[in-house]
Amino acid sequence: MTQAAEQELADVGVTGLAVMGANLARNLARNGFRVAVHNRSRAKTDKLIEEHGDDGTFVATEEMEDFVQSLATPRKIIIMVKAGGPTDAVIDQLVPLLDTDDIVVDAGNAHWDDTRRREKALKEQGIRFVGTGVSGGEEGALNGPSIMPGGDADAYSHLAPMLEKISAQVDGEPCCRHIGPDAAGHFVKMVHNGIEYADMQLIAEAYDVIRSLTGMSPAELAEEFKRWNTGVLDSFLIEITAEVLAKVDERTGKPLVDVILDAAAQKGTGTWTVQSALSLGVPVGAIAEAVFARAVSSQPEQRAAVRERFGDVTAEQADDAKALIDDVEQALYASKIVAYAQGFDLIRTASNEFEWGVNPGDLATIWRGGCIIRAAFLDRIKEAYEANPDLANLLVDNTFAADVEKAEAAWRRVIGRAVNAGIPVPAFSASLAYFDSLRRGRLPAAVVQGQRDLFGAHTYKRIDAEGSFHVEWSGDGSESPAD
Ligand code: NAP
Repeated sequence: MTQAAEQELADVGVTGLAVMGANLARNLARNGFRVAVHNRSRAKTDKLIEEHGDDGTFVATEEMEDFVQSLATPRKIIIMVKAGGPTDAVIDQLVPLLDTDDIVVDAGNAHWDDTRRREKALKEQGIRFVGTGVSGGEEGALNGPSIMPGGDADAYSHLAPMLEKISAQVDGEPCCRHIGPDAAGHFVKMVHNGIEYADMQLIAEAYDVIRSLTGMSPAELAEEFKRWNTGVLDSFLIEITAEVLAKVDERTGKPLVDVILDAAAQKGTGTWTVQSALSLGVPVGAIAEAVFARAVSSQPEQRAAVRERFGDVTAEQADDAKALIDDVEQALYASKIVAYAQGFDLIRTASNEFEWGVNPGDLATIWRGGCIIRAAFLDRIKEAYEANPDLANLLVDNTFAADVEKAEAAWRRVIGRAVNAGIPVPAFSASLAYFDSLRRGRLPAAVVQGQRDLFGAHTYKRIDAEGSFHVEWSGDGSESPAD
Protein backbone atom coordinates (compact mmCIF):
# COMPACT_ATOMS: atom_id res chain seq x y z
CA MET A 1 0.00 0.00 0.00
CA THR A 2 1.37 3.45 -0.87
CA GLN A 3 1.93 6.04 1.80
CA ALA A 4 -0.80 8.18 0.27
CA ALA A 5 -3.29 5.32 0.44
CA GLU A 6 -2.17 4.52 3.98
CA GLN A 7 -2.91 8.10 5.00
CA GLU A 8 -6.47 7.79 3.82
CA LEU A 9 -7.21 4.82 6.01
CA ALA A 10 -9.54 5.46 8.91
CA ASP A 11 -8.28 5.70 12.51
CA VAL A 12 -11.22 3.78 13.89
CA GLY A 13 -14.33 1.98 12.73
CA VAL A 14 -17.80 1.93 14.27
CA THR A 15 -20.26 -0.79 13.29
CA GLY A 16 -23.83 -0.47 14.55
CA LEU A 17 -25.20 2.99 13.84
CA ALA A 18 -28.39 3.14 15.89
CA VAL A 19 -28.54 6.05 18.31
CA MET A 20 -25.51 5.07 20.44
CA GLY A 21 -23.19 4.02 17.62
CA ALA A 22 -24.06 7.00 15.41
CA ASN A 23 -23.44 9.43 18.26
CA LEU A 24 -20.18 7.75 19.26
CA ALA A 25 -19.02 7.93 15.62
CA ARG A 26 -19.94 11.61 15.49
CA ASN A 27 -18.11 12.25 18.76
CA LEU A 28 -14.97 10.59 17.34
CA ALA A 29 -15.25 12.55 14.07
CA ARG A 30 -15.77 15.85 15.89
CA ASN A 31 -12.60 15.13 17.83
CA GLY A 32 -10.59 14.89 14.64
CA PHE A 33 -10.51 11.13 14.10
CA ARG A 34 -11.18 9.65 10.69
CA VAL A 35 -14.08 7.27 11.28
CA ALA A 36 -15.15 4.36 9.08
CA VAL A 37 -18.83 3.62 9.65
CA HIS A 38 -20.88 0.51 8.96
CA ASN A 39 -24.32 -0.82 9.77
CA ARG A 40 -26.00 -4.14 8.98
CA SER A 41 -28.58 -2.36 6.88
CA ARG A 42 -27.41 0.57 4.76
CA ALA A 43 -30.15 3.06 5.74
CA LYS A 44 -28.59 4.09 9.08
CA THR A 45 -25.21 4.72 7.45
CA ASP A 46 -26.79 6.96 4.81
CA LYS A 47 -28.80 8.82 7.44
CA LEU A 48 -25.69 9.50 9.50
CA ILE A 49 -23.74 10.83 6.51
CA GLU A 50 -26.68 12.83 5.23
CA GLU A 51 -27.52 14.50 8.53
CA HIS A 52 -24.10 14.78 10.17
CA GLY A 53 -21.51 14.15 7.46
CA ASP A 54 -19.97 17.55 8.13
CA ASP A 55 -19.24 16.71 11.79
CA GLY A 56 -15.83 15.44 10.61
CA THR A 57 -14.32 12.81 8.32
CA PHE A 58 -16.40 9.69 7.81
CA VAL A 59 -15.68 6.75 5.53
CA ALA A 60 -19.08 5.24 4.74
CA THR A 61 -19.02 1.54 3.91
CA GLU A 62 -21.71 -0.99 3.02
CA GLU A 63 -19.95 -4.37 3.07
CA MET A 64 -18.11 -5.62 6.14
CA GLU A 65 -15.09 -6.40 3.92
CA ASP A 66 -14.86 -2.76 2.77
CA PHE A 67 -15.31 -1.56 6.33
CA VAL A 68 -12.39 -3.69 7.55
CA GLN A 69 -10.20 -2.76 4.59
CA SER A 70 -10.79 0.93 5.20
CA LEU A 71 -9.04 0.82 8.58
CA ALA A 72 -5.39 1.47 9.47
CA THR A 73 -3.69 -1.42 11.29
CA PRO A 74 -3.78 -2.54 13.99
CA ARG A 75 -7.44 -2.05 13.28
CA LYS A 76 -9.60 -0.55 15.99
CA ILE A 77 -13.22 -1.54 15.55
CA ILE A 78 -16.00 -0.47 17.90
CA ILE A 79 -19.09 -2.68 17.89
CA MET A 80 -22.20 -0.82 19.05
CA VAL A 81 -25.06 -3.22 18.26
CA LYS A 82 -27.88 -4.73 20.28
CA ALA A 83 -26.26 -6.77 23.08
CA GLY A 84 -26.36 -10.57 23.04
CA GLY A 85 -26.78 -12.61 19.83
CA PRO A 86 -26.27 -9.60 17.51
CA THR A 87 -22.83 -8.94 19.05
CA ASP A 88 -21.81 -12.57 18.40
CA ALA A 89 -23.16 -12.32 14.86
CA VAL A 90 -21.04 -9.23 14.16
CA ILE A 91 -17.93 -10.81 15.73
CA ASP A 92 -18.42 -13.94 13.61
CA GLN A 93 -18.59 -11.79 10.50
CA LEU A 94 -15.60 -9.66 11.47
CA VAL A 95 -13.06 -12.15 12.73
CA PRO A 96 -12.27 -13.95 9.45
CA LEU A 97 -11.51 -10.53 7.95
CA LEU A 98 -9.11 -9.38 10.67
CA ASP A 99 -5.35 -9.70 11.16
CA THR A 100 -3.40 -10.67 14.26
CA ASP A 101 -3.33 -7.91 16.90
CA ASP A 102 -6.35 -6.07 15.51
CA ILE A 103 -8.51 -4.70 18.32
CA VAL A 104 -12.25 -5.31 18.62
CA VAL A 105 -14.06 -3.12 21.13
CA ASP A 106 -17.53 -4.17 22.25
CA ALA A 107 -19.05 -0.98 23.60
CA GLY A 108 -22.58 -2.38 23.97
CA ASN A 109 -24.16 -3.41 27.25
CA ALA A 110 -22.82 -6.97 27.17
CA HIS A 111 -23.19 -9.37 30.05
CA TRP A 112 -19.71 -9.74 31.55
CA ASP A 113 -19.88 -13.54 31.24
CA ASP A 114 -20.31 -13.11 27.47
CA THR A 115 -17.35 -10.74 27.45
CA ARG A 116 -15.17 -13.35 29.21
CA ARG A 117 -16.19 -15.95 26.65
CA ARG A 118 -15.62 -13.64 23.68
CA GLU A 119 -12.25 -12.39 24.91
CA LYS A 120 -11.00 -15.94 25.42
CA ALA A 121 -12.24 -17.11 22.01
CA LEU A 122 -10.74 -14.12 20.17
CA LYS A 123 -7.43 -14.34 22.02
CA GLU A 124 -7.03 -17.86 20.64
CA GLN A 125 -7.28 -16.34 17.18
CA GLY A 126 -4.78 -13.57 17.93
CA ILE A 127 -7.44 -10.82 18.09
CA ARG A 128 -7.52 -8.44 21.03
CA PHE A 129 -10.98 -7.96 22.51
CA VAL A 130 -11.82 -5.00 24.72
CA GLY A 131 -15.20 -5.25 26.48
CA THR A 132 -16.04 -1.63 27.23
CA GLY A 133 -18.78 -0.09 29.33
CA VAL A 134 -20.19 3.18 28.02
CA SER A 135 -22.53 5.24 30.15
CA GLY A 136 -24.41 8.43 29.50
CA GLY A 137 -27.07 7.42 27.03
CA GLU A 138 -27.29 9.07 23.64
CA GLU A 139 -26.38 12.51 24.92
CA GLY A 140 -23.25 11.15 26.60
CA ALA A 141 -22.21 9.17 23.53
CA LEU A 142 -22.30 12.37 21.49
CA ASN A 143 -20.82 14.88 23.89
CA GLY A 144 -18.67 12.83 26.24
CA PRO A 145 -19.62 9.58 27.96
CA SER A 146 -18.05 7.84 30.91
CA ILE A 147 -16.05 4.99 29.40
CA MET A 148 -15.03 1.78 31.22
CA PRO A 149 -12.70 -0.32 29.05
CA GLY A 150 -11.57 -3.79 30.10
CA GLY A 151 -9.40 -6.24 28.18
CA ASP A 152 -5.63 -6.30 27.96
CA ALA A 153 -3.67 -3.21 28.92
CA ASP A 154 -1.60 -3.17 25.72
CA ALA A 155 -4.73 -3.08 23.57
CA TYR A 156 -5.97 -0.22 25.73
CA SER A 157 -2.76 1.74 25.13
CA HIS A 158 -3.72 1.86 21.41
CA LEU A 159 -7.24 3.03 22.26
CA ALA A 160 -6.43 5.43 25.08
CA PRO A 161 -5.69 8.58 23.03
CA MET A 162 -9.02 8.18 21.27
CA LEU A 163 -11.26 7.07 24.12
CA GLU A 164 -9.82 9.53 26.61
CA LYS A 165 -10.32 12.37 24.14
CA ILE A 166 -13.99 11.61 23.42
CA SER A 167 -14.97 10.88 27.03
CA ALA A 168 -16.42 13.45 29.43
CA GLN A 169 -13.77 15.56 31.19
CA VAL A 170 -14.01 16.61 34.85
CA ASP A 171 -11.39 18.93 36.41
CA GLY A 172 -9.18 18.28 33.38
CA GLU A 173 -9.33 14.49 33.87
CA PRO A 174 -10.91 12.19 31.29
CA CYS A 175 -13.80 10.02 32.51
CA CYS A 176 -12.12 6.98 30.97
CA ARG A 177 -9.55 4.66 32.50
CA HIS A 178 -8.49 1.12 31.84
CA ILE A 179 -10.50 -0.77 34.46
CA GLY A 180 -8.70 -4.12 34.35
CA PRO A 181 -8.23 -7.19 32.17
CA ASP A 182 -10.87 -9.63 30.98
CA ALA A 183 -14.46 -8.53 31.64
CA ALA A 184 -13.61 -5.92 34.29
CA GLY A 185 -15.00 -3.07 32.14
CA HIS A 186 -18.38 -4.65 31.49
CA PHE A 187 -18.69 -5.87 35.09
CA VAL A 188 -18.09 -2.38 36.39
CA LYS A 189 -20.57 -0.91 33.89
CA MET A 190 -23.16 -3.45 35.02
CA VAL A 191 -22.69 -2.47 38.67
CA HIS A 192 -22.81 1.20 37.67
CA ASN A 193 -26.29 0.47 36.28
CA GLY A 194 -27.23 -1.44 39.43
CA ILE A 195 -26.26 1.58 41.53
CA GLU A 196 -28.26 3.73 39.12
CA TYR A 197 -31.35 1.57 39.77
CA ALA A 198 -30.91 2.03 43.53
CA ASP A 199 -30.29 5.76 43.25
CA MET A 200 -33.43 6.22 41.11
CA GLN A 201 -35.61 4.11 43.41
CA LEU A 202 -34.37 5.95 46.52
CA ILE A 203 -35.22 9.29 44.91
CA ALA A 204 -38.65 7.96 43.93
CA GLU A 205 -39.29 6.80 47.51
CA ALA A 206 -38.21 10.21 48.85
CA TYR A 207 -40.74 11.84 46.51
CA ASP A 208 -43.49 9.42 47.58
CA VAL A 209 -42.92 9.92 51.31
CA ILE A 210 -42.92 13.71 51.08
CA ARG A 211 -45.84 13.94 48.70
CA SER A 212 -47.95 11.43 50.62
CA LEU A 213 -47.28 12.93 54.05
CA THR A 214 -47.45 16.63 53.11
CA GLY A 215 -49.80 16.79 50.17
CA MET A 216 -47.31 19.00 48.30
CA SER A 217 -47.78 19.23 44.55
CA PRO A 218 -45.18 17.82 42.14
CA ALA A 219 -44.29 21.39 41.15
CA GLU A 220 -43.65 22.29 44.80
CA LEU A 221 -41.61 19.13 45.21
CA ALA A 222 -39.58 20.05 42.14
CA GLU A 223 -38.51 23.21 43.96
CA GLU A 224 -37.34 21.13 46.96
CA PHE A 225 -35.37 18.83 44.64
CA LYS A 226 -33.76 21.86 43.04
CA ARG A 227 -32.72 23.01 46.49
CA TRP A 228 -31.37 19.54 47.31
CA ASN A 229 -29.35 19.74 44.14
CA THR A 230 -27.25 22.49 45.69
CA GLY A 231 -26.32 20.35 48.72
CA VAL A 232 -24.90 16.88 49.47
CA LEU A 233 -27.33 15.30 46.99
CA ASP A 234 -26.11 17.41 44.04
CA SER A 235 -26.39 14.98 41.11
CA PHE A 236 -27.72 14.49 37.60
CA LEU A 237 -30.51 12.22 38.87
CA ILE A 238 -31.78 14.80 41.39
CA GLU A 239 -31.59 17.49 38.71
CA ILE A 240 -33.64 15.49 36.19
CA THR A 241 -36.14 14.45 38.87
CA ALA A 242 -36.85 18.14 39.49
CA GLU A 243 -37.39 18.55 35.75
CA VAL A 244 -39.75 15.54 35.57
CA LEU A 245 -41.78 16.77 38.58
CA ALA A 246 -42.09 20.28 37.18
CA LYS A 247 -43.35 19.09 33.81
CA VAL A 248 -47.02 19.76 33.02
CA ASP A 249 -48.82 17.36 30.67
CA GLU A 250 -49.73 19.14 27.46
CA ARG A 251 -52.90 17.08 26.94
CA THR A 252 -54.52 17.37 30.36
CA GLY A 253 -52.77 20.27 32.11
CA LYS A 254 -52.01 17.92 35.00
CA PRO A 255 -48.52 17.24 36.35
CA LEU A 256 -46.98 14.79 33.85
CA VAL A 257 -45.97 12.47 36.69
CA ASP A 258 -49.67 12.00 37.48
CA VAL A 259 -50.53 10.74 34.00
CA ILE A 260 -47.50 8.46 33.50
CA LEU A 261 -48.44 4.82 34.16
CA ASP A 262 -46.76 3.75 37.40
CA ALA A 263 -45.12 0.62 35.98
CA ALA A 264 -41.32 0.91 35.74
CA ALA A 265 -39.63 -0.95 32.90
CA GLN A 266 -36.15 -2.41 32.85
CA LYS A 267 -33.66 -3.67 30.32
CA GLY A 268 -31.85 -6.15 32.53
CA THR A 269 -28.59 -4.72 33.86
CA GLY A 270 -30.09 -4.27 37.34
CA THR A 271 -31.14 -7.91 37.35
CA TRP A 272 -27.67 -8.96 36.17
CA THR A 273 -26.12 -6.98 39.02
CA VAL A 274 -28.26 -8.76 41.59
CA GLN A 275 -27.71 -12.17 39.97
CA SER A 276 -23.94 -11.57 40.01
CA ALA A 277 -24.10 -10.43 43.62
CA LEU A 278 -25.99 -13.60 44.57
CA SER A 279 -23.40 -15.76 42.79
CA LEU A 280 -20.53 -13.96 44.52
CA GLY A 281 -22.31 -13.84 47.91
CA VAL A 282 -22.31 -10.06 48.21
CA PRO A 283 -25.23 -8.33 50.00
CA VAL A 284 -26.68 -5.66 47.67
CA GLY A 285 -30.12 -5.29 49.26
CA ALA A 286 -30.66 -1.66 48.22
CA ILE A 287 -29.96 -2.51 44.58
CA ALA A 288 -32.03 -5.71 44.74
CA GLU A 289 -35.01 -3.88 46.27
CA ALA A 290 -34.79 -1.30 43.49
CA VAL A 291 -35.01 -4.07 40.89
CA PHE A 292 -37.88 -5.76 42.78
CA ALA A 293 -39.70 -2.44 43.14
CA ARG A 294 -39.81 -2.17 39.34
CA ALA A 295 -41.08 -5.75 39.19
CA VAL A 296 -43.84 -5.08 41.76
CA SER A 297 -44.88 -1.93 39.92
CA SER A 298 -45.25 -3.99 36.74
CA GLN A 299 -47.73 -6.52 38.21
CA PRO A 300 -51.08 -4.79 37.63
CA GLU A 301 -53.30 -7.82 38.34
CA GLN A 302 -51.74 -8.65 41.69
CA ARG A 303 -51.65 -4.99 42.69
CA ALA A 304 -55.34 -4.61 41.82
CA ALA A 305 -56.30 -7.79 43.69
CA VAL A 306 -54.48 -6.84 46.89
CA ARG A 307 -55.61 -3.21 46.75
CA GLU A 308 -59.21 -4.35 46.31
CA ARG A 309 -58.96 -6.69 49.29
CA PHE A 310 -57.15 -4.36 51.68
CA GLY A 311 -57.84 -0.88 50.28
CA ASP A 312 -55.34 1.84 49.42
CA VAL A 313 -53.77 3.87 52.22
CA THR A 314 -54.55 7.47 52.91
CA ALA A 315 -51.68 8.92 54.85
CA GLU A 316 -52.35 11.40 57.61
CA GLN A 317 -50.93 14.80 56.73
CA ALA A 318 -47.89 15.87 58.71
CA ASP A 319 -47.91 19.21 60.52
CA ASP A 320 -44.14 19.47 60.28
CA ALA A 321 -43.56 19.48 56.51
CA LYS A 322 -40.30 21.44 56.67
CA ALA A 323 -38.77 19.10 59.26
CA LEU A 324 -39.99 16.05 57.33
CA ILE A 325 -38.39 17.29 54.09
CA ASP A 326 -35.07 17.87 55.89
CA ASP A 327 -35.29 14.39 57.40
CA VAL A 328 -35.98 12.82 53.99
CA GLU A 329 -32.97 14.61 52.53
CA GLN A 330 -30.80 13.03 55.22
CA ALA A 331 -32.43 9.60 54.84
CA LEU A 332 -31.90 9.74 51.09
CA TYR A 333 -28.26 10.69 51.51
CA ALA A 334 -27.53 7.92 54.04
CA SER A 335 -29.33 5.34 51.89
CA LYS A 336 -27.39 6.49 48.87
CA ILE A 337 -24.09 5.98 50.71
CA VAL A 338 -25.23 2.40 51.41
CA ALA A 339 -26.18 1.75 47.75
CA TYR A 340 -22.73 2.86 46.63
CA ALA A 341 -21.05 0.91 49.45
CA GLN A 342 -22.84 -2.21 48.22
CA GLY A 343 -21.92 -1.60 44.58
CA PHE A 344 -18.26 -0.97 45.41
CA ASP A 345 -18.19 -4.08 47.61
CA LEU A 346 -19.54 -6.15 44.69
CA ILE A 347 -16.86 -4.78 42.36
CA ARG A 348 -14.11 -5.41 44.90
CA THR A 349 -15.29 -9.00 45.44
CA ALA A 350 -15.39 -9.76 41.71
CA SER A 351 -12.04 -8.06 41.20
CA ASN A 352 -10.48 -10.29 43.90
CA GLU A 353 -12.20 -13.39 42.57
CA PHE A 354 -11.11 -12.87 38.96
CA GLU A 355 -7.82 -11.03 39.73
CA TRP A 356 -8.79 -7.89 37.85
CA GLY A 357 -7.01 -5.42 40.13
CA VAL A 358 -9.79 -2.83 39.82
CA ASN A 359 -8.95 0.43 41.59
CA PRO A 360 -12.17 1.74 43.22
CA GLY A 361 -10.78 5.29 43.25
CA ASP A 362 -10.58 5.15 39.43
CA LEU A 363 -14.26 4.30 39.24
CA ALA A 364 -15.27 7.23 41.40
CA THR A 365 -13.12 9.41 39.15
CA ILE A 366 -14.61 8.29 35.83
CA TRP A 367 -18.19 8.28 37.09
CA ARG A 368 -17.99 11.98 37.99
CA GLY A 369 -18.87 13.01 34.45
CA GLY A 370 -20.74 11.74 31.40
CA CYS A 371 -22.72 9.04 33.16
CA ILE A 372 -26.19 8.82 34.68
CA ILE A 373 -24.97 8.51 38.28
CA ARG A 374 -22.66 11.53 38.03
CA ALA A 375 -22.77 13.43 41.29
CA ALA A 376 -20.73 15.74 43.45
CA PHE A 377 -20.81 12.87 45.94
CA LEU A 378 -18.36 10.89 43.73
CA ASP A 379 -15.62 13.40 44.57
CA ARG A 380 -15.99 12.34 48.19
CA ILE A 381 -15.83 8.65 47.22
CA LYS A 382 -12.69 9.37 45.19
CA GLU A 383 -11.14 11.10 48.22
CA ALA A 384 -12.16 8.20 50.48
CA TYR A 385 -10.34 5.64 48.32
CA GLU A 386 -7.35 7.94 47.82
CA ALA A 387 -7.02 8.21 51.60
CA ASN A 388 -7.38 4.45 52.01
CA PRO A 389 -7.41 2.19 48.92
CA ASP A 390 -8.15 -0.82 51.18
CA LEU A 391 -11.22 0.71 52.82
CA ALA A 392 -13.27 -2.19 54.25
CA ASN A 393 -16.54 -0.45 53.43
CA LEU A 394 -17.46 3.05 52.28
CA LEU A 395 -19.44 3.45 55.53
CA VAL A 396 -16.27 3.54 57.62
CA ASP A 397 -14.53 6.29 55.69
CA ASN A 398 -14.22 9.16 58.19
CA THR A 399 -16.26 11.62 56.13
CA PHE A 400 -19.03 9.20 55.27
CA ALA A 401 -19.12 7.78 58.81
CA ALA A 402 -19.62 11.31 60.16
CA ASP A 403 -22.36 11.95 57.56
CA VAL A 404 -24.17 8.71 58.47
CA GLU A 405 -23.94 9.51 62.19
CA LYS A 406 -25.47 12.90 61.48
CA ALA A 407 -28.22 11.38 59.31
CA GLU A 408 -29.01 8.31 61.40
CA ALA A 409 -31.85 9.66 63.55
CA ALA A 410 -33.57 11.25 60.54
CA TRP A 411 -33.08 8.05 58.53
CA ARG A 412 -34.91 6.03 61.21
CA ARG A 413 -37.65 8.65 61.62
CA VAL A 414 -38.41 8.70 57.90
CA ILE A 415 -38.57 4.92 57.56
CA GLY A 416 -40.65 4.65 60.74
CA ARG A 417 -43.11 7.27 59.55
CA ALA A 418 -43.37 5.70 56.09
CA VAL A 419 -43.92 2.21 57.48
CA ASN A 420 -46.58 3.48 59.91
CA ALA A 421 -48.37 5.28 57.11
CA GLY A 422 -48.23 2.31 54.74
CA ILE A 423 -45.95 3.99 52.21
CA PRO A 424 -43.58 1.40 50.76
CA VAL A 425 -39.92 2.33 51.16
CA PRO A 426 -38.15 -0.92 50.22
CA ALA A 427 -34.83 0.62 49.16
CA PHE A 428 -34.68 2.99 52.17
CA SER A 429 -35.48 0.08 54.51
CA ALA A 430 -32.98 -2.31 52.89
CA SER A 431 -30.27 0.33 53.15
CA LEU A 432 -30.91 0.89 56.83
CA ALA A 433 -31.11 -2.88 57.47
CA TYR A 434 -27.69 -3.30 55.81
CA PHE A 435 -26.19 -0.63 58.05
CA ASP A 436 -27.86 -2.08 61.15
CA SER A 437 -26.74 -5.61 60.24
CA LEU A 438 -23.10 -4.63 59.72
CA ARG A 439 -22.85 -2.67 62.96
CA ARG A 440 -24.68 -5.21 65.17
CA GLY A 441 -22.62 -7.07 67.73
CA ARG A 442 -24.46 -10.36 67.40
CA LEU A 443 -26.73 -11.31 64.55
CA PRO A 444 -29.51 -13.90 64.71
CA ALA A 445 -27.43 -15.93 62.26
CA ALA A 446 -26.61 -18.11 65.30
CA VAL A 447 -30.24 -19.23 65.34
CA VAL A 448 -30.09 -20.06 61.64
CA GLN A 449 -26.96 -22.13 62.22
CA GLY A 450 -28.74 -24.01 65.02
CA GLN A 451 -31.70 -24.70 62.74
CA ARG A 452 -29.41 -25.89 59.95
CA ASP A 453 -27.62 -28.25 62.28
CA LEU A 454 -30.91 -29.64 63.62
CA PHE A 455 -32.60 -30.41 60.31
CA GLY A 456 -29.57 -31.11 58.14
CA ALA A 457 -26.57 -31.84 60.40
CA HIS A 458 -24.87 -28.87 58.70
CA THR A 459 -22.74 -28.23 61.84
CA TYR A 460 -21.88 -24.89 63.45
CA LYS A 461 -18.81 -23.16 64.84
CA ARG A 462 -18.57 -21.98 68.45
CA ILE A 463 -17.40 -18.61 69.72
CA ASP A 464 -15.18 -20.27 72.32
CA ALA A 465 -13.53 -23.23 70.51
CA GLU A 466 -11.90 -24.09 67.19
CA GLY A 467 -13.54 -26.48 64.73
CA SER A 468 -17.09 -27.40 63.77
CA PHE A 469 -19.68 -29.06 65.98
CA HIS A 470 -22.89 -31.02 65.72
CA VAL A 471 -25.58 -31.85 68.27
CA GLU A 472 -27.26 -35.30 68.30
CA TRP A 473 -30.65 -33.58 68.16
CA SER A 474 -32.71 -36.73 67.80
CA GLY A 475 -30.43 -38.75 70.07
CA ASP A 476 -29.06 -37.90 73.49
CA GLY A 477 -28.61 -34.18 72.73
CA SER A 478 -24.87 -34.30 73.20
CA GLU A 479 -22.49 -32.13 71.16
CA SER A 480 -19.55 -33.60 69.33
CA PRO A 481 -16.77 -32.23 67.09
CA ALA A 482 -17.82 -32.59 63.48
CA ASP A 483 -14.45 -32.94 61.82
P1 NAP B 1 -29.94 -1.07 19.80
O1 NAP B 1 -31.36 -0.73 19.55
O2 NAP B 1 -29.56 -1.76 21.05
O3 NAP B 1 -29.40 -1.92 18.56
C1 NAP B 1 -29.66 -1.56 17.23
C2 NAP B 1 -28.42 -1.76 16.38
O4 NAP B 1 -28.01 -3.15 16.41
C3 NAP B 1 -28.69 -1.43 14.92
O5 NAP B 1 -27.55 -0.82 14.37
C4 NAP B 1 -28.96 -2.80 14.31
O6 NAP B 1 -28.72 -2.87 12.94
C5 NAP B 1 -27.92 -3.61 15.06
N1 NAP B 1 -28.21 -5.06 15.03
C6 NAP B 1 -29.23 -5.71 15.60
N2 NAP B 1 -29.15 -7.04 15.35
C7 NAP B 1 -28.06 -7.21 14.56
C8 NAP B 1 -27.43 -8.33 13.99
N3 NAP B 1 -27.93 -9.56 14.16
N4 NAP B 1 -26.32 -8.15 13.26
C9 NAP B 1 -25.81 -6.91 13.07
N5 NAP B 1 -26.33 -5.79 13.61
C10 NAP B 1 -27.44 -5.94 14.36
O7 NAP B 1 -29.08 0.31 19.64
P2 NAP B 1 -28.61 1.39 20.72
O8 NAP B 1 -29.71 1.81 21.62
O9 NAP B 1 -27.88 2.41 19.94
O10 NAP B 1 -27.57 0.58 21.63
C11 NAP B 1 -26.40 -0.01 21.11
C12 NAP B 1 -25.68 -0.71 22.23
O11 NAP B 1 -25.32 0.25 23.22
C13 NAP B 1 -26.52 -1.77 22.96
O12 NAP B 1 -25.70 -2.84 23.34
C14 NAP B 1 -27.01 -1.03 24.17
O13 NAP B 1 -27.32 -1.89 25.25
C15 NAP B 1 -25.81 -0.16 24.49
N6 NAP B 1 -26.09 1.04 25.26
C16 NAP B 1 -27.20 1.76 25.04
C17 NAP B 1 -27.43 2.91 25.79
C18 NAP B 1 -28.64 3.74 25.52
O14 NAP B 1 -28.85 4.68 26.29
N7 NAP B 1 -29.41 3.47 24.48
C19 NAP B 1 -26.52 3.30 26.75
C20 NAP B 1 -25.37 2.55 26.94
C21 NAP B 1 -25.17 1.42 26.19
P3 NAP B 1 -29.94 -2.60 11.89
O15 NAP B 1 -30.03 -1.12 11.73
O16 NAP B 1 -29.50 -3.28 10.63
O17 NAP B 1 -31.18 -3.20 12.48
